[in-house]
Amino acid sequence: MNVSVVLFTSDLRLHDHPPLCAALEGGREVVPLFVRDRAVDDAGFAAANRLAFLADCLRDLDAGLRQRGGRLVVRSGELIREVCRVAAEAGADEVHLAADVSAYAQRREDRLRRALESGGVRLHVHDAVTTVVAPGTVTPSGSDHFAVFTPYYRRWAERRVRDLLGAPRSVRVPEGVGSQEPPSYKGVSEGLAPGGETEGRRRLAAWLRHGVSAYEDRHDDLAGDATSRLSPHLHFGTLSPVEVVHRARAVGGPGAEAFVRQLAWRDFHRQLLAARPDASVADYRPRYDRWRTERTARADIEAWREGRTGYPVVDAAMRQLLHEGWMHNRGRLLTASFLTKTLYVDWRIGARHFLDLLVDGDVANNQLNWQWVAGTGTDTRPNRVLNPVTQARRYDPDGAYVRRWVPELGGIEGPAVHEPWKLPGPDRAAIDYPDPLVGLPEGLARFKRARSYG
Ligand code: FAD
Repeated sequence: MNVSVVLFTSDLRLHDHPPLCAALEGGREVVPLFVRDRAVDDAGFAAANRLAFLADCLRDLDAGLRQRGGRLVVRSGELIREVCRVAAEAGADEVHLAADVSAYAQRREDRLRRALESGGVRLHVHDAVTTVVAPGTVTPSGSDHFAVFTPYYRRWAERRVRDLLGAPRSVRVPEGVGSQEPPSYKGVSEGLAPGGETEGRRRLAAWLRHGVSAYEDRHDDLAGDATSRLSPHLHFGTLSPVEVVHRARAVGGPGAEAFVRQLAWRDFHRQLLAARPDASVADYRPRYDRWRTERTARADIEAWREGRTGYPVVDAAMRQLLHEGWMHNRGRLLTASFLTKTLYVDWRIGARHFLDLLVDGDVANNQLNWQWVAGTGTDTRPNRVLNPVTQARRYDPDGAYVRRWVPELGGIEGPAVHEPWKLPGPDRAAIDYPDPLVGLPEGLARFKRARSYG
C-alpha cells in the first residue's frame, strides 16, 4: 500500500483542503500530521492565546478524522526531523504541504524538501490553501509583487477562484505511528474565542446569514462589533479563504463585496511578505526614523500596553486586546497610530505586543499592518496621524465602546466620555483615570519634526 503524509500547518481543516485531497488520490493511506514545532517556541511566537486556540483546532481536527475512520498524529520537536521520522515509520513515499510565505516557512520548505528527498520521499507543495490567490501569480510589470493595494485588488478581483473541494468521506491511517498530546498552555485571556473547524464553519454560516449584508455600513462601528471575527479561523486555516470568498460572493451585495475586499488585503500582505521576507522586521520603505524605544520611552510604552494612556478610546481598545486576545480593526488602527505617531515609538515594539496577545496574530498581517500605520509600509500617505479624539467621536459616537472597556469612565454619559480632562474640576477629581500622557499638538509636532515635514 502506498502511503502519504499530510503535514498540517496553518490549514487545520478537512473541508476544501487541496493537500489532503491530493494525498488521498488513488485510495492511498494517509498520515495526517501536526508537528508542534520547537522553533516557533524558540522564536517567542507561541503566545498562550494562540496555543489555546490551536489546542481546540487539533482536538476538532482529530474528531473530524475519527468520524472518517482516521485520526490525527501529533508530534513535537524539531519539525524536519519529526516529519522524516513519521514518513519512515509509516513507509510513506510522499509528503503534502500547503505553501506559506514567511521567511521561516520558506526556509522550512527548502530544508524539508532536501531532507525528504535524501530519503527518497517527495515533497508536494500546494498553492491556494492558505490564500485565495497564490503569492507571485498577480504581479505588476517589472516587479515581483504589488506595493500598492488598489491596483493589486483590481487584478485580484478579476482572477478566477479555484473550485471548492469537499471534505473526504473516509481517511485510512496506517497502524503503528505514535502520537503525542496537543500542546499545553497557561495565562489565556478571559474572553478568548473557541477554536476549531466546527466552530469556524458555524461562525461563517451565521456571519453570512446575519452579518455580512450590513458590513459595508457597520464595519467601523466600534461598539457595534459588526465585523466577522473570522480572523483566527483564517489564521489557523480552520476556514479556507477560497471557500469564504465563494460563499460571500454567493450572498452578493455591497456588504459581501466590501468583506471580500478585506480578504484581498490578507492576500496582498502575503504576496508582499513572500517577495520581501525581511519586511517582518525591517522597514519596507525606510523613513530614517529615530524612534523612541524601551530605553527612552519605557513608561509611555507600559501605559500604552496596559490601557492607561489617558485617551479613553485608545485605552478601551488596548483593554479589549488584553481581555479577549482580539481587537476591532478600527481599534488596531488608532492604537497603532497613537504608539508610532503620537508617542513616536518604534512600530516593532507595538507589533511584538500584539503578537504576544492576538489570537489571530499573524506575521504577514500584523507586521505589514503595523508598517502601514507607521508609514514605513505601503500606505500612500505615510505621514497621516489619526487623532484619537476625532476617531472616537466618529466611530464611537455615543461612547458605548469606551464605557464597556474603561469602567472608571462608566458614569460619564454620551460623547463627553472621550475627553474626561474637560470635565468640571470636582467631576474630574472624582474619577480615578489618568491625564493624557502627552498633548495631541505636542505629539504631532514631535512627529513632524522627526519626519521633517509640516
Ligand atoms: P473582518 O473585518 O470581518 O474582515 C474579514 C477578514 O479579512 C479578516 O478576518 C482578515 O483575515 C482579513 N482582513 C481584514 N482587514 C485586514 C487588513 N487590514 N489586513 C489584512 N487582512 C485583513 N489581522 C490578522 O489577521 N492578524 C494580525 O495579526 C493583524 N494585526 C493587525 C495589526 C494592526 C496594527 C492593524 C491595523 C491590523 C491588523 N490586522 C491583523 C488586520 C485586521 O485588523 C484584522 O484582520 C481584523 O480586525 C480581524 O477582525 P475580523 O475577522 O472581524 O475582520
